[in-house]
Amino acid sequence: MLVSKLLLPTLKDSPQEAEIVSHQLMLRAGLIRKVASGIYTWLPLGLKVLKKIENIVREEMDLSGAQEVCMPMVLPRELWEETNRWEKMGPELLRIKDRHNRDFCLGPTHEEIITDIIRNNVKSYKELPLNIYQIQTKFRDEVRPRYGIMRGREFLMKDSYSFNIDEESLQETYLTMRETYKKILDRIGLEYKISRADSGSIGGDSSEEFHVLAENGEDIIAISDSSEFAVNSELLLKDGEDISSLEGKPSPDGQGTIQIKKGIEVGHIFKLGKIYAESMKASVLDSNGKASLLYMGCYGIGVSRLVAAAIEQNYDDKGIIWHHSISPFDINIISIGHDKNKEIATASNKLYKDLNEMGYSVLLDDRKDGYGTKIKDSELIGIPLNIVVGKKFLENKEIELLRRNGDSSMNPIDDVKTILDFFKD
Ligand code: ATP
Ligand code: MG
Repeated sequence: MLVSKLLLPTLKDSPQEAEIVSHQLMLRAGLIRKVASGIYTWLPLGLKVLKKIENIVREEMDLSGAQEVCMPMVLPRELWEETNRWEKMGPELLRIKDRHNRDFCLGPTHEEIITDIIRNNVKSYKELPLNIYQIQTKFRDEVRPRYGIMRGREFLMKDSYSFNIDEESLQETYLTMRETYKKILDRIGLEYKISRADSGSIGGDSSEEFHVLAENGEDIIAISDSSEFAVNSELLLKDGEDISSLEGKPSPDGQGTIQIKKGIEVGHIFKLGKIYAESMKASVLDSNGKASLLYMGCYGIGVSRLVAAAIEQNYDDKGIIWHHSISPFDINIISIGHDKNKEIATASNKLYKDLNEMGYSVLLDDRKDGYGTKIKDSELIGIPLNIVVGKKFLENKEIELLRRNGDSSMNPIDDVKTILDFFKD
């Protein structure tokens, strides 16, 4: 992509409305623009990052054996009445009426809809277990939308729902999802903790949250400094414990001491048990030919929230630092004097073509601006590797490789292999 043709409205300063760094940088780097409170447009660069995360999630879900579907976003009241959630969800559920005055809502989560599909289409335990997922826009009329897409009203979620014949099978699927979420977050290069959590309005027996550790996290979690122990303070509060009394104390699992950290909840996995099956009468025939209520699990991951979480964990005073797995482009060719110097333009265009053909996603900054503007923009938008074609190229056919982390080297332009080696490590 040529930078001169890209819709990339970068900003020098942070808009007043943005309180935290990920929101500020998403606006400044031209990733998103606000349409209404908690509702955003994804601009080309932002959408590329979102799609990269979506693809990682999809690949890992498919590998886990889950199957993708797409449920509607507009949902009829009747299904929500069955679980009493038409009332229970309160004002978070955005309700609308059609021209016949029938009630609908915009889907904030899809337990009722998938359970209805399964009870009508799956008859025997032999067809189980099933794990069905979608990657879809959700709407929750949050009481306090804030921090840009971190807590939006409209956001992208991967939600999946497992149907199992018994508790053991549910436990197995639950653990598979737990491992899958670990793989997803590892691939995105995030540091995270898995904490015991409150199940909230989704309900169920027990749940765990995946927290990306970051200063601007909205959740307070107690973690052990030398084991995997982690618990959300919301759960402690519910149980009458006091989080401050845990600070610096020995961890309840007997390993290490407790530290209090802030975390961004990016994923939540639930063992629902039979609650939805009971209220919606969802059963299959078991091995004795008897109707048996289904055990369910549900597993959500905030695809759009992950974009903000990744920025919160990786930035500096120049801008965003993308992990290579989710960067909108792999390489930016900074061509100095592109419009004036034919030699520079020809060399940059050839490099652009070659790298594209090798399978990299490449930006070519062909704008009239000087080096200062171009490198500033590139650092702001966080591209992992810059290749500068400028004065040194004219002098002795050398280009500068400049990584987002500050490392740099001069290389002969024909030495593409070095370019790639440099990029790999
Ligand atoms: P929170 O406590 O942050 O409101 P939740 O517990 O209501 O989250 P779930 O119902 O478990 O969220 O949804 C699954 C995932 O969807 C969350 O882990 C989070 O990553 C994401 N998510 C939930 N609400 C929002 C939102 N308003 N904006 C962006 N992502 C969200
Ligand atoms: Mg919520």
